[in-house]
Amino acid sequence: MLSLDAPLNAEELTELDRRRVWHPYTTSPTGSRQLLVESAAGVRLRLARPVNGVEELVDGMSSWWAAVHGYAHPELDAAAHAQVDRMSHVMFGGLTNESAVRLAATLAEITPGALNHVFLADSGSVSVEVALKMCLQYWRGLGRPEKRRLLTWRGGYHGDTWHPMSVCDPEGGMHHLWSGVLNEQVFAEAPPVGFGADVDESYLERFERLLWRHAEELAAVVVEPVVQGAGGMRFHAPEYLRRLRELADRYDVLLVFDEIATGFGRTGELFAAGHAGVAPDVMCLGKALTGGYLTMAATVCGERVAEGIAGGDVPVLAHGPTFMGNPLAAAVANASLRVLFRDDWRAKVHGIAAGLETGLAPAREIAGVRDVRVLGAIGVIQLDHEVDVAAASAAAIERGVWLRPFRDLIYTMPPYVIDAEDLGRVTDAAVAAARVG
Ligand SMILES: *Cc1c(COP(=O)(O)O)cnc(C)c1O
Repeated sequence: MLSLDAPLNAEELTELDRRRVWHPYTTSPTGSRQLLVESAAGVRLRLARPVNGVEELVDGMSSWWAAVHGYAHPELDAAAHAQVDRMSHVMFGGLTNESAVRLAATLAEITPGALNHVFLADSGSVSVEVALKMCLQYWRGLGRPEKRRLLTWRGGYHGDTWHPMSVCDPEGGMHHLWSGVLNEQVFAEAPPVGFGADVDESYLERFERLLWRHAEELAAVVVEPVVQGAGGMRFHAPEYLRRLRELADRYDVLLVFDEIATGFGRTGELFAAGHAGVAPDVMCLGKALTGGYLTMAATVCGERVAEGIAGGDVPVLAHGPTFMGNPLAAAVANASLRVLFRDDWRAKVHGIAAGLETGLAPAREIAGVRDVRVLGAIGVIQLDHEVDVAAASAAAIERGVWLRPFRDLIYTMPPYVIDAEDLGRVTDAAVAAARVG
């Protein structure tokens, strides 16, 4: 047996990893090796072994939208250390802790409308499960258990557990693999693209017709507001959200916004719902919640949903993960929010948006590039073909940048703390990746 503290060099670790560890969307053993990160600070990942002489990579991905303040941030580190010294975790059933209480109170305050009831879960997918359970239980509480299906538009991504998977884009979510297994939801066409585009009234009419036809069996409309992330990095006009709010009210279904990717400033508003000035009935938060330090997510809902659940035959929200309200994650989340507001996230995100516009513009001239788009601190180069991920990643690494293209997309959402020079590196690398990808 491998002794728990046997010394392992980088070569041995990467090979063990390849043979023993599942990575996202891979086989096991994996077909190729992962890069071993030795440490990270600021916007840089330090590799355990240089790749063609490159030892450090500027992180263009913020560890999948999460590390908005970069790595080893002194205040987030201090918050984690201080909380570890008090307690890392204590159960949330019958007990509570200051960090979780403070976090919930802050989230209730900063989210749109009156979303005053906060459920702290341990991952984005679980927060979506909780949101959907809230909606279904709400209608049960009102004596209408038949309202249990969900309406969403195509092109979405809501997580990898079962109920969230059922509202992911049917193709991206591999519904063909799961036909007969996943709950069958109601899908509208993907929303027309273009943040600044006029709304397409005929699209909304078709959406309304679906809602009208299925209203009696629908619990909720579930969407990612403004940016569809892992489903294709597509942006739509905020006006659609205002209209969804009206339609949801007219046909008596709840409205759920999944802001797991968009929350905490990424799109240029604190929450993407802010572009439209509307509040959903239930909102999911995750990813950047802890500044990318620890896994924590939140589902927040308003009075209507909380009271509906409380009025049911089973008058409690029947969900309670072991690590609910984890004090360590909550303490870091509190520190992350303090830094976010103090350091003027809005100015930073607007600065990054300008840098992305300028830096990615040359990609428009490359043959095979279909579209280049920027919203807030999100930059996307869309090709007219599937990216050669190995070639595109290698081109970025050669320029000292970490990017993780997927499908036909080379995209970046850098940490908010990135400076102009490093942002230039990231955009140069993305353009170079588009050339070879
Ligand atoms: C990442 C993501 C999720 C899932 O979150 P996990 O923490 O990976 O479970 C759900 N919805 C959206 C919009 C996401 O971007």
